[in-house]
Amino acid sequence: MALKFHNTLTGQIDEFVSILPGKVSLYTCGPTVYNYPHIGNWAAYIYWDVLVRILKANNYDVTRVMNITDVGHLVSDADDGEDKLEKGARREGKTAWEVAKFYTEVFIDGMHRLGLIMPNEITKATEFVTEQIELVRKLEAKGVTYQIDDGIYFDTSKFPSYADFAHLDLDALKAGARVEANLQKRNPSDFALWKFTPAGEKRDMEWEMDGRMGFPGWHIECSAMALSILGKTIDIHTGGIDHIPVHHTNEIAQSETANGVRFSNYWLHNNFIKVNGTKISKSLDNGYTLDDLQAKGFSMLDFRMLLLQGHYRSEGNFTFDILQSAKNRLKNWRNVAALRHQVHDTLENSNQKASDDKSVPAYAVSQAIIEAINDDLGTPQALTLIDETFSKIANAKIANINRSALLQLLETIDSTLGLQLLETTPDVSDDIKKTILERNQARIQKDWKKSDSLRDQLAKQNIVIRDTDQTSIWEYKI
Ligand SMILES: [Zn+2]
Repeated sequence: MALKFHNTLTGQIDEFVSILPGKVSLYTCGPTVYNYPHIGNWAAYIYWDVLVRILKANNYDVTRVMNITDVGHLVSDADDGEDKLEKGARREGKTAWEVAKFYTEVFIDGMHRLGLIMPNEITKATEFVTEQIELVRKLEAKGVTYQIDDGIYFDTSKFPSYADFAHLDLDALKAGARVEANLQKRNPSDFALWKFTPAGEKRDMEWEMDGRMGFPGWHIECSAMALSILGKTIDIHTGGIDHIPVHHTNEIAQSETANGVRFSNYWLHNNFIKVNGTKISKSLDNGYTLDDLQAKGFSMLDFRMLLLQGHYRSEGNFTFDILQSAKNRLKNWRNVAALRHQVHDTLENSNQKASDDKSVPAYAVSQAIIEAINDDLGTPQALTLIDETFSKIANAKIANINRSALLQLLETIDSTLGLQLLETTPDVSDDIKKTILERNQARIQKDWKKSDSLRDQLAKQNIVIRDTDQTSIWEYKI
């Protein structure tokens, strides 16, 4: 089955066709680095990690750029209010540069902790100011900009399809414009390409343009970085649904005006997750960080499992109960993965039995998982398939487990969903194996006392024994 995504640009599920065969250019709107990212922020990056993984599983060579917004993202998300970085700097008694450096490191460390595939390039907005100024110049030359007291703005009335992407009602926007809105703006939807440092002020981050100090607008940053590294038209652009009406609409307006071609062929947007059914907000203090999850005994993979249980376009919910059940699910899966150490590759259970319908898992399951994810990142469907298959494996006679098909399945799960089942399920030590054998002997001899004491000894090493009709299977203690 072909790879398909819900494309915000067309409002429907579209089959994915790349510009160049076998290659994908992908741009992800990255974090604004002024604070610790919370689980809601991380959700997006985990879903985009699955996107990268499924593109690779379909043999695409992926070139991915993700930006770091380290300047110009204003508190209001519109074009007034303070710069989040400068505000963060004052809160922490540091410079904006120090704040940006610190939280960029926190973010990149978090990406590693979560096992995310790193983008080919992580670009900082402050390192692309020249490109941003060039893009502003290009737009000026096209006559779509105007200058007012606080900066250079894009005149959205000069981009006829401005309302299309987000299905905006521009008249309603005009009618609802806030009283305190910038009165010099020609249209409420006009946005700043470049802001001037207010007279008499000195910002930590500012650059000279036309003899005045200033800084880039948030939207121009992404357009300039995507353009300079990935080209005028990219295959896929991703971000949160909150980016649709302003940030991405503005990126499209300025990029397509500057270049005269479509900016991105596919736009993918992730929904939000709530915490205990409530929006994540500072006042509720429910924006848990990765450290908060770890402090409560959960791993980054438990959190990944929780997110994969939901679909990226559905609103998710986070509670510690849901996280606990995700953790249990993962532990059960690990015990199935550990069976590969206990099945032997003999003719009996690989070649001959492969065609026998008693043999599990079927080789076809790996492909079915890929197809579920191919269908607009259908991770919940993929997880259901895995549950069904794993429960068959767990209930099968050991002799009916096809080790090579199991290995292939585990590799597919790890490469597409990033759950690290192989990495987290090492074989037991030789000492433990010896104890298991001794216990089996004791059972055969009906020496229950010895068998029980060896079982206790194993439990202390976090190994539990499950006795079946034919054999004893070891599992990691849950
Ligand atoms: Zn962006």
